[in-house]
Amino acid sequence: MSRIGVFVCHCGTNLASVVDVEKVAAAARELPGVSYAAEYKYMCSEPGQQMILDAIAEHGLKRIVIASCSPRMHETTFRKMLKKSGVNEYLLEIANIREQVSWVHTDSGVATEKAVDLVRMAVAKVAKDEPLKASSIPITKRALVVGGGIAGIQAALDIADAGHEVWLLEREPSIGGRMVMLDKTFPTLDCSACISTPKMVDMSAHPNIKLLTSCEVAAVRGYIGNFTVTIRQKAKYVNQDICTGCGNCEEKCPVKVKSDFNKGLSDRPAIYRLFPQAVPAKPVIDRAHCLKLTKDRCGLCEKVCPLGCIDYADEDREYDETFGAVVLATGYGLCDWTAMYDEYGAGRFADVIDGLAFERLVNASGPTEGHIVRPSDGAEPKTVVLVKCVGSRDPKKGKPWCSRACCMYAAKHAHQILEKIPGARVFVFYIDVRTPGKNYEEFYDQTRKDGAVYVRGRVSRIYKEGGRLICQGEDSLLGKQVRVAADLVVLETAMEPAAGARETAALFGASADANGWLQEAHPKLRPVETQAGGVFLAGTCQGPKDIPDTVAQASGAAAKAIGLLNKDEMETSPMIVAVDEAKCSGCGACVDICPFGALSLEILTAREGRWERAERFVCKVNAGLCQGCGACTVACRTGAIDLRGFRNVQILEEIDALWT
Ligand SMILES: Cc1cc2nc3c(=O)[nH]c(=O)nc-3n(C[C@H](O)[C@H](O)[C@H](O)COP(=O)(O)OP(=O)(O)OC[C@H]3O[C@@H](n4cnc5c(N)ncnc54)[C@H](O)[C@@H]3O)c2cc1C
Repeated sequence: MSRIGVFVCHCGTNLASVVDVEKVAAAARELPGVSYAAEYKYMCSEPGQQMILDAIAEHGLKRIVIASCSPRMHETTFRKMLKKSGVNEYLLEIANIREQVSWVHTDSGVATEKAVDLVRMAVAKVAKDEPLKASSIPITKRALVVGGGIAGIQAALDIADAGHEVWLLEREPSIGGRMVMLDKTFPTLDCSACISTPKMVDMSAHPNIKLLTSCEVAAVRGYIGNFTVTIRQKAKYVNQDICTGCGNCEEKCPVKVKSDFNKGLSDRPAIYRLFPQAVPAKPVIDRAHCLKLTKDRCGLCEKVCPLGCIDYADEDREYDETFGAVVLATGYGLCDWTAMYDEYGAGRFADVIDGLAFERLVNASGPTEGHIVRPSDGAEPKTVVLVKCVGSRDPKKGKPWCSRACCMYAAKHAHQILEKIPGARVFVFYIDVRTPGKNYEEFYDQTRKDGAVYVRGRVSRIYKEGGRLICQGEDSLLGKQVRVAADLVVLETAMEPAAGARETAALFGASADANGWLQEAHPKLRPVETQAGGVFLAGTCQGPKDIPDTVAQASGAAAKAIGLLNKDEMETSPMIVAVDEAKCSGCGACVDICPFGALSLEILTAREGRWERAERFVCKVNAGLCQGCGACTVACRTGAIDLRGFRNVQILEEIDALWT
């Protein structure tokens, strides 16, 4: 005897204005196995839940159907309620008669008929449901943060301050990310290094934080609460334990390589620190350019090092560590405009630079000590053109998104030029001006008052004439072509996901969207979580952002990680797949299709007397990784895999009920 109870919700007028809920409840009463049916204004409310609990007690109900909104909304609410009643919380079905009925139908008759159908199907399924029990897994109380920009730094500090151990893994030789490349930051114009380097130092000195630089994630096994991460430590060739960072080696190194940190505007030696305030403040050898490592010549750094720190025999090494939670903070890169914009010279003109190069030019600790000059000849530019949305909002170039920070940093650049070069003229070519932030509009207004000329239109071409750069474009407000002869052109180029971010995220089971930004679990309601349990997102790896939004999101991700690490163990959903080993042929189709890496083939052994004999391969499920998506059940050729809670027999029963 099923003893099913059906409860139909009005959802205020949300449902009841379209669906005849009394009729649905009456129809439910006639269904086989249904012992009780009722309707109520708000089933999810306190009195609504109490009404269900009372009915369970009074009528001895064993299985429950609730006809209401989407299960995404209140399935958990009703499961929690069932726990109190003693009925197994998985003997529950939700018939979604809001999103699938009242919100999509206007004809009450049709809607009510469909609602009855959905209730009949849910009743048929709940009758076949089986009690399930959640299990629990222990949690390793240590977090891994991948990426040491301001997002990663903030997340690591927050988690560490909450008392948990954190490892921060950065692929460059220093933490800091892009923020340490910037000069001042809008809209307050505070010095970027002055606000970011103290955080970097706090981090390196924090007793709960272990800092790993020149490192990458090579592989990941495991799942929420227990990620076993293979960390690849790239050889630094300098013994970091004894090096004091005296700088002798950097001074004496004869090699000169274009500095990436200074965007090619200056050189650096082959043994180098990323920038003077680098953390850790110790050099590494760039193996691609070191004469000793490439040609077995030179060896000067070894000779001048007073402590004998140089170790040319150093090698990359890999080791495993386990973490309970992971924060991905891999940041952004700028689009390679030289490969995309032939019309802007494709990199042929030294005085056409991007925004980060300008940040280095204007920066007091940059290659020109803050003097804004033309890279080609060191002369001070008198006319500067800033071009916004280069690569951003340009579907033709494959980058439809808005990079969000550029309107403001273009205004900042205009302000810095006007402040530093008396009499300078600044033209800003723009499509729109977007300033949605506290004091942002005021900052932009002030820049225009200071003298920046905003020209609405795209620059169609940049070419050289008489030693100057001619920026040609349409002023779409005046409806005519304009040409501005500039000494320096700054392209405010699109932010794009950091190289390799998608691949790194995939190792943890997280995904990226069509544009390569890491995908949040829900754009509004779960913006810092990913679909992979225990993996959170911080900063620009999730989408373009300015620093305040980056820091806020990093703290959000840290709060989620702290919430997880505060637990000793966590419940896992029992609605995962189960394999019938007798039917499994070991073909591996399920392993290939599983998006979470939850399935593997393992050898099944058979016992012969005292001996175990390897018999054949069968599929094994990792309960921590399986998310219950069911993709494998479709791929399984022998029907050996079934999804608990959505077994084939349950689904078929539900479908059959539609025709009865
Ligand atoms: C020209 C320009 C000017 C700007 N000016 C301002 C401003 O004035 N005010 C403002 O609010 N915002 C400004 N911004 C935006 C600001 O730079 C970003 O909001 C901020 O730096 C984002 O920080 P992040 O930590 O998310 O990313 P990042 O700074 O990019 O840091 C990411 C870090 O992760 C590391 N990493 C990447 N992949 C891996 C991996 N697989 N493994 C390990 N490590 C990895 C990177 O090496 C890097 O250190 C500006 C941006 C630009 C382009």
